[in-house]
Amino acid sequence: ASSVGAPAYLEVEQSYIIIKPDGVQRGLVGEIISRFEKKGFLLKGLKLFQCPKDLAQEHYKDLKDRPFFPKLIDYITSGPVVYMAWEGDGVVASARKLIGATNPLQAEPGTIRGDLAVQTGRNGVHGSDSPDNGKREIALWFKDGKLCQWESVQTPWLIE
Ligand code: UDP
Ligand code: MG
Repeated sequence: ASSVGAPAYLEVEQSYIIIKPDGVQRGLVGEIISRFEKKGFLLKGLKLFQCPKDLAQEHYKDLKDRPFFPKLIDYITSGPVVYMAWEGDGVVASARKLIGATNPLQAEPGTIRGDLAVQTGRNGVHGSDSPDNGKREIALWFKDGKLCQWESVQTPWLIE
């Protein structure tokens, strides 16, 4: 791929990431953002936001029949979250690796959950599990549909 100005017909992959209320309360916003920045993905949208219940339910609708669903909704609406859109080739799968396993005790050291959390119900961060869900979640949360259009000066030093 060419380094600057990817052709418009090439759709660039995006992942939807949330720093959950525990991550915000524990002062981990900078640390978590930093993992994605340093890896070399491009931040295209970001907001500090108190998530309403109906949005949380829609976001996690695939899990609505699971026993932990009510607690999950309480958790994600219990305080402000930071939500973000990150862009780059392979960003969805790579972000899942950077985040680590759902249960932080099983997450590898070096991952966000492996380094920074201990419980599944307080695992600090969300990342889309497929490119299609990335699109769905970004459309759901960035209601005005506007991500920031910009390119980083680092791009030619990240992508040959
Ligand atoms: N969760 C939970 N108990 C469980 C499984 C999941 O509280 O037994 C919560 C946890 O916060 C998790 C979220 O529900 O991050 C979504 O679950 P999923 O299986 O999609 O995990 P993820 O994709 O976040 O790793
Ligand atoms: Mg999931």
